[in-house]
Amino acid sequence: MTIHHHPPDELLTAFAAGTLDLGQHIAVATHLLTCPHCRSMVRAMEQIGGTVLTRLPPAEMSPGALAAVEARVGGRAPDDAAIPARHFTGFRDIPGLPSFVRRYPDSSWKWIAPKVHMRPIGLPEPGATRVFLLRSKPGTKMIDHTHTGFEMTCVLSGSFAHEGGHFGPGDFDLGDGSVDHDVRIDSTEDCICLVAMQGDLKLHGVIGRLLQPLIRM
Ligand SMILES: [Zn+2]
Repeated sequence: MTIHHHPPDELLTAFAAGTLDLGQHIAVATHLLTCPHCRSMVRAMEQIGGTVLTRLPPAEMSPGALAAVEARVGGRAPDDAAIPARHFTGFRDIPGLPSFVRRYPDSSWKWIAPKVHMRPIGLPEPGATRVFLLRSKPGTKMIDHTHTGFEMTCVLSGSFAHEGGHFGPGDFDLGDGSVDHDVRIDSTEDCICLVAMQGDLKLHGVIGRLLQPLIRM
């Protein structure tokens, strides 16, 4: 697997610092599992952060601080043991999906646009970031769109292209309101991506305006 597109450094730094919410964390962790380059970056950042911490003068902790840290770690770790074992068998039909994502509640594919389906991943703490799988048929040209928030996309199988380049398995794409997406699925198989998204899609053009009321993501 050759990876050409990585999360920006600020996102890897936030991952290493533990400041991403669960949905964002899942998207970056999905990329890290396939990308030795970014894993070594995160490891280096964690070591720098640890060195800085050990040089800080000791300070008294506030009451309940330890419990708060434990709760945060428990909610974010990809191998979170608190997720019920009955959910470990989901998403069997999705090769390339990391095992820690299979622990979250599965659901069925939902139609969202011609040749495009989405499948929500049920997070234990629903927040501002939604995580779902997106499956698009070969030859699909996604309607020209922008975002009101951000969109992190990890390619699991198949491939797509837009103005920013060509994206295949393992690649990571970060979109926000400043990016105009004109996406084409250019693989001969279905393109399946894990997507973490905040905000809504804004569709452009006549067809986009007609479809906007039907799009539910
Ligand atoms: Zn990478």
